[in-house]
Amino acid sequence: MASGFVNIRRDVDDKFYRYRMPILLTKIEGKGNGIKTVLPNMSDVARALSRPPSYTTKFFGCELGAQTSVDEKNERYIVNGAHDANRLRELLDGFIDKFVLCKSCKNPETELIILKVGRTEDIIRDCKACGERTPIDMRHKLTTFILKNPPIKARKGKKATNGDAAAGVGGGGGDVTPENGNGEEGGDPGAESDDELTKKIKAEAAELNQDAAIEKEDWAVDTSPEAVKARQKALESSMAAAVLGGDDDGDDDDENSPYTQFGNWIMDVPETEDQKALNIAIYKKAEELGIEKKHKAVLILVTIFTEDVVAEIPKFAPLLKKMVTSEKHQKALLGGIERLVGLAYPDLLPQVPKILMALYQDDILDEEVVTEWGTHVSKKYTDKDTSKRVRKASAPFLKWLEEADDDDSDEDDD
Ligand SMILES: [Zn+2]
Repeated sequence: MASGFVNIRRDVDDKFYRYRMPILLTKIEGKGNGIKTVLPNMSDVARALSRPPSYTTKFFGCELGAQTSVDEKNERYIVNGAHDANRLRELLDGFIDKFVLCKSCKNPETELIILKVGRTEDIIRDCKACGERTPIDMRHKLTTFILKNPPIKARKGKKATNGDAAAGVGGGGGDVTPENGNGEEGGDPGAESDDELTKKIKAEAAELNQDAAIEKEDWAVDTSPEAVKARQKALESSMAAAVLGGDDDGDDDDENSPYTQFGNWIMDVPETEDQKALNIAIYKKAEELGIEKKHKAVLILVTIFTEDVVAEIPKFAPLLKKMVTSEKHQKALLGGIERLVGLAYPDLLPQVPKILMALYQDDILDEEVVTEWGTHVSKKYTDKDTSKRVRKASAPFLKWLEEADDDDSDEDDD
């Protein structure tokens, strides 16, 4: 059926590249409203990528905003509407980049694993080539589908066994001690200190390490569909709780709530060079939805950030200043940061001090609010363990704040 093979990385122009896949074929069927694009060799392509064909097909649906139909038994994979083969091949490149290639070495020999952190889950690419584990951007809509349909069956016919997966579990999760975090902003995270705050954070850190070890063991043991499903449910409710917060001021949990709309709109916002226009557009959207003054809008706003958050904060600072107008807003912002670094990008944990520093230096966060936040674990925005993890990572910054306050001297430029 396949009329030819291409490199899995089509940007690699190497005839001897090891990783090849059949070129994706398409066939238009039907007419009028019933017109659809059939993907006759989707299962062959997906097999070459070691991913279930439902993932690639659903990915097309997410990207094109089209309905899809997946019939694994009869190997029928369909995207509604008429779609150009080249367009779909380009989208497939996007899928490969986001859900297959190791982010570190760009090798396609990866396995998707679902890693439980606290009550929530992240999807990680586990690279067989370099051993790195790199997180999937959890804001992509396909991640919801993957969590609901975990990649267990995909292991069939692959070298990986449950034993392999379990053996690899120890390395993930992004455990970070303040000592190996980024302490360069000042203070000396390695130094012994008797102050109460440090003691408290160290005690929590020790406890956290224990909890994390236990959780990883759980995950290694239980990858049954039932267990995965149960964790998915937990994730959904914890995310819903995160968005709604404790002091809810209305019925926001439906799909049409202004917060959901704001979040979806931000997720689809195109990249632009014109940062000022982008800031204005975001504010106007919030205004249009009537939530520009709400602290929960700040929580949603944080989803605009990516793994480059440290560099992005100054760009969005004018917008943040406009929307973060009270202590409550600052707490929502910190809650959003907890979710960003605790759940979406666990690799960012070592950068928490830099993130807080950037927000502090741009006068978006007040010293009192950050200190109060940093010393009180809360379940309001994430699960307790994630909350602890993030606060633990913030220790060097909190220490710097306190010391800067004590001697009233500049320690941020040493
Ligand atoms: Zn790799």
